[in-house]
Amino acid sequence: MTTQNAVLIRGIAASPGVAHGPWVRFQRKAPASRGLVAEPEAEVARLIAAADVVGRATEGLADEVRRAGHAEEAKVFLAQAMIARDPELLDAAAVRIRVDHDDAIAAITAAAATVADQLRTLGDKLLAGRASDVVDVGDRLARELAGLASVEMRLTEPSIVVAEDLPPSMTATLPRDRLLGIALEASSPTAHAAILARAYGIPAVVGATGLLAALDAAGHGSPLALDGESGELLVAPAKEDIARYEARAGAIRRNRGRDLEEAALPVITEDGTAIELLANIGSPGEAAGAVALGARGVGLFRTEFLFLERSTPPSEDEQADAYGQVVAAFGPHPVTIRLLDVGGDKPIPYLPLKAEDNPFLGVRALRLADHRPDIFVTQLRACYRAAVRGRVKVMAPMVADAADAATFRQLVDRARTELIAEGRPIGALDLGAMLEIPSAILTADTYVQELSFVSIGTNDLLQYTLAADRGNPALERYRDPLHPALLRLIRLAVEAAERAGIELSVCGEMAGDPEAAILLVGLGVRLLSMAPSSLATVRRAIRAAVSSDLERAAISSLDDRSAADVRTRLRRLAVETTTVPEQAR
Ligand code: PEP
Ligand code: MG
Repeated sequence: MTTQNAVLIRGIAASPGVAHGPWVRFQRKAPASRGLVAEPEAEVARLIAAADVVGRATEGLADEVRRAGHAEEAKVFLAQAMIARDPELLDAAAVRIRVDHDDAIAAITAAAATVADQLRTLGDKLLAGRASDVVDVGDRLARELAGLASVEMRLTEPSIVVAEDLPPSMTATLPRDRLLGIALEASSPTAHAAILARAYGIPAVVGATGLLAALDAAGHGSPLALDGESGELLVAPAKEDIARYEARAGAIRRNRGRDLEEAALPVITEDGTAIELLANIGSPGEAAGAVALGARGVGLFRTEFLFLERSTPPSEDEQADAYGQVVAAFGPHPVTIRLLDVGGDKPIPYLPLKAEDNPFLGVRALRLADHRPDIFVTQLRACYRAAVRGRVKVMAPMVADAADAATFRQLVDRARTELIAEGRPIGALDLGAMLEIPSAILTADTYVQELSFVSIGTNDLLQYTLAADRGNPALERYRDPLHPALLRLIRLAVEAAERAGIELSVCGEMAGDPEAAILLVGLGVRLLSMAPSSLATVRRAIRAAVSSDLERAAISSLDDRSAADVRTRLRRLAVETTTVPEQAR
């Protein structure tokens, strides 16, 4: 509910927390071009010199951020330093100088814009987020060439920063003692502005179409209120609105405290079924938070993150270090490293894949092993080395059948043999497969006994079962994982794992939805892996549930007609569980 004069804008939640107060708009004025140049070679030399200065300054910024205790975020700037010296970007600008006689300012601005556009048109949210890094670096190069200082934003009072988009360098250097929140008209939750906001605990909303026009219309004196969990923004909130936001802020603070306090509680149903809750993470920086929230290991380390953040693949040493850090943070619990799942909606610019009409049905993930086994062998070597520091499990993404499982094991053997021949110390790896293609579940009995574990990726399993692209908003009706077709496949997978005597977990988003999580328990799943922020609510749902009731509900739900029917069944069960006295059960 909002008051009459307030304007409600719905954006995308990007970093939790609420804020209200005055806003300051960040606007970047592009440095002006100095017109055509007579001596192109001298201008190219100016550009190269500027690239060196900006590269070094950006590395300095990375150092500063690292020293401030944000090692993971510092990598953003190391990646930017690489962009500043990226030969492709500089060559593209040099061509404009030599052929069109553009000056270096115009040339680098245009070259950066072209590269950013290419990244945005790849249709991948992460890469689109990287586009703002390229524009940010282009802008800093142009400023250096124009003799302008880099943009700095001073906040004279605690304020919310609003902008079309915010370059990562700006996000990292905003005066955090006065920064109440961030609201962006563009951007996405996986862009660096949002990643940094989350890392610094600054509430943020992105993708807020219409925000800047609404602020202009309301005038500068009108405050702004922001809810980084619902994605709501209120321009010119009234007193009652602000009171509501303050109440929310209080509740969020209390909930966070409660989530941490409950982290050590046993995850066990009322009738004694024990469940393990694990974390899904994408970088070593997320490990500590997940441990604090009670994750007993990592069920899915999406290693693409390490590859997407940069312009060349991470070396074996870098990977061994990143995996080793996570293993050390979670010890004695195991860390499940998923081999690179590139392709589909996650292309990587420096790993060119052939354009395909249906990339989700194409050469994705483990299927790349035919052409590029080296990528996986390097990863596996790094896993073996990290395993010296603790328990490591490795799983292959997009396994379709026994032949894919065999390919995976061959890659593992190759990595192991190489390391042994080199005399390098290695640990032990548990091997597993993701079950995210229906054929992998339907034929599970033919190969899972050769593995130590399987993990169900419900995100892809749902898209492949219902033939509904997971990124297409028009297919929302097919996106509920409680669909009986998915539940039947999960049940088949549980039974196959039981027959083979191996461990089974679920690591798709379904495991982090408290209602779906307890249904998974009813289907026989005992390990659930999810985003760390879901751990507390799922733990509460499990502790309030009775597994014998869940089993009955789960078996009946296999015959339901729709996901909505399954949800109704679960809600009825929840009401009964809370109203039926203990002795009557
Ligand atoms: C899945 O498909 O459910 C999964 C966990 O992997 P991703 O979402 O990374 O494809
Ligand atoms: Mg998947």
